[in-house]
Amino acid sequence: MLTAATFLLALSAAQTPILPPAIPWNGASRALAVPASDPWVTPSEATSFRTTPRYDETVAYLRRLVAASRELKMVSIGKSGEGRDIWMVIASKDRAFTPEALHKKPIVFAQGGIHSGEIDGKDAGLMLLRDMTVRGTKRELLDGANFLFVPIFSVDAHERFSRVSRINQRGPEESGWRTNPLNMNLNRDYVKADTAEMRAMIRALNEWQPDLYIDLHVTDGADYQYDITFGWNGPMAFSPSIATWLDDVFRPAVYRGLQQMGHIPGLLIFTDDPLASGVIGGATDPRLSHAYGDARHMASILVENHSLKPYDQRVLGTYVFLEHTLRVVAREAKSLRAANDAASMRRAATIPLAWKVPEGQTGEMDVLGVESRKTLSPISGDVRVEWLGKPVTRRAPLRKASEVTASVTRPKAYWVPPAWREVIERIDLHGIRYERLTTPREADVTMYRFGEPKYDARQFEGHVRVSAPATAEKHRETFPAGTLRIPTDQPLGTLAVLLLEPSSPDSLFQWGFFHSILSPTEYVEAYIMEPMAERMLAEDPKLAEEFQRKLASDDAFRGSARARLQWFYERSGWYDEKAHLYPVGREE
Ligand SMILES: [Zn+2]
Repeated sequence: MLTAATFLLALSAAQTPILPPAIPWNGASRALAVPASDPWVTPSEATSFRTTPRYDETVAYLRRLVAASRELKMVSIGKSGEGRDIWMVIASKDRAFTPEALHKKPIVFAQGGIHSGEIDGKDAGLMLLRDMTVRGTKRELLDGANFLFVPIFSVDAHERFSRVSRINQRGPEESGWRTNPLNMNLNRDYVKADTAEMRAMIRALNEWQPDLYIDLHVTDGADYQYDITFGWNGPMAFSPSIATWLDDVFRPAVYRGLQQMGHIPGLLIFTDDPLASGVIGGATDPRLSHAYGDARHMASILVENHSLKPYDQRVLGTYVFLEHTLRVVAREAKSLRAANDAASMRRAATIPLAWKVPEGQTGEMDVLGVESRKTLSPISGDVRVEWLGKPVTRRAPLRKASEVTASVTRPKAYWVPPAWREVIERIDLHGIRYERLTTPREADVTMYRFGEPKYDARQFEGHVRVSAPATAEKHRETFPAGTLRIPTDQPLGTLAVLLLEPSSPDSLFQWGFFHSILSPTEYVEAYIMEPMAERMLAEDPKLAEEFQRKLASDDAFRGSARARLQWFYERSGWYDEKAHLYPVGREE
C-alpha cells in the first residue's frame, strides 16, 4: 500500500535531478570569482555558484554597489504585472546618465532572465559591474563603451522560485519560471507587446537606443561540448550590414576571448543530435528578441548557455562573453555604428518573411559533440538517447536557411484608420513615426480582400492566430480624421511592414487583432432575395449565363439553397462592401 509517507518519498526521488554526466572543466575564468571573504562577493559566488539570489537580494546588492560607485546609476524601466520594478543599471565612466550623454560612446545593453529560470546573465552581470567599478580589476572596459544591464527582465516569473523549475538544467539549486504570471513567454511578445514587462522593455529600447542588444538565455536540448552558443538573424533577413559585422568582426573576437579563458563557444544549435544532423543557421520572426532587434536595425544577439554545463562554468562564460563584447564594441565602435546606420538607412524594396535551406546545399563543419548511446525504449516505444559525457569531434552538415521563400514589397506608406486603437497603441509603443490626419483625406490605396480565414485550433500566447489568402484591390478610399499615414521611409519602416502586412507571420492581423472584420454582419431574407434574383437574371443575361455555369460546375453550390441566394446577394449591390476587407491601406 502506498502510504502518504512513501508517496512523499517517491515524489522526492523523482524530483532529484537526473542529468547526463558532466564533462570535467577547469577554465582559467575560475580566477574571476572572488572568495567568500571578499567584501564585494556576489550572492552566487558566496555559495560557490550553488545558488542564485532572489529579486530582493539582487536589488540590495546592486543598491550597495551603486551607492559605492559614482559611475553607476539604477533606474526602473517600468513595473511588472505584480508591481515589481524592472531595474536597469547604467555603467558609465563619464557619469553620462542621460540617453544623449550616453551616446558619446557605443552602448551595450544586456538583459538577463527574460526566461527567468535561465538566470546566468544576472549573476555574471553583478560580478562584471563590481569588477568594472568598486573592485577595479576591469575598469578599462568602460573606457570605450557604456553598459546598460537589466539583471532580471521577467521579474515576477523570477519569484516563482523553486527547485523544480528547470528539469534539463545543471544548477542553480533553485530558480525562477519560464513564463510570467499570465503564463506568457516574453520572448514571443516583442511584436504584439501584450505584457507589462515587454512594454517597459520596448520603451527602454526606444529611449536608450543601444548600439548592441544582448539577450541572455540557457538552452534545452542536445548535449555537446560548447558551453556558450550565440547567434543572430543572418544577412538574408532584415539588416544585412549588421549580420556581416557580427559574423566578421564580433564573432571571431569574442570566440578568441572565450577560448583563452577556457570556454568553448559555438553556433546556436537547434538540432537534437548535432553530431548526426549537424547545425542549421537561419533567421527568425521578430516576436523573438534578436529578430526584433534585427527588424529595428539594431545589432542584436541571442546567447544560449548550455544547460548541462555546471552553473559556475555558465556564469563565468557569460562574464567573459560580456567582457569581450565590451572590448570589441569599444575597439570597433565606428564599424559597428556604420553597420547599424547602413541598415537603418537601407530601404529594401522587398522584405523577407520566410526562409529555407536551399536544395543541395552541402556545407560542413567540425561539430564538438558528445557521444551518445541509442537503444530501443520499452517506455516510449521509440529510440532512447543516453548522453555519455564523452567528447567527440565529427564532420557534420552545416546548413544555412539562406533562401527566401516568401516576401512582400515595401509600400510608400500604410494608412491605419483611427478606430483600430489596439493596433495604433502598438505602433506608438514601437516608436514608429507617422502623420495623423486632422481632416478626412482621400487616397488611392491597395487593400487586401481576404478569402476563407484559417484559425489555429489552439490559442498561442493568449491569441487565436489566423491566416487567410488575400487578393489585392485598388481603392480610392476616404480615410477619416485621426487616421495614421505611416511612411515606410523611416528607420522603423521594415518593422512597420512586418506589423501591418497580413502575410507576415508576426503581423497584427495574424496575431488576431483584426478578427472582427472576418464575420459578415448584415444578412438578407430569402423572401427579398428571391424576387431580386429574378429581376437580376432578367436584366443581365451575362449574369444569367454565369449562374447557369456555376450550377453546372459546382455540385455543392447546386445543392445549397443558401449558397445560391447568397451568390445573388453578393452581386446585388446591397452586400457589405467591407466584408473581409483589411482596413489598412497600402499607398504604393
Ligand atoms: Zn530562453
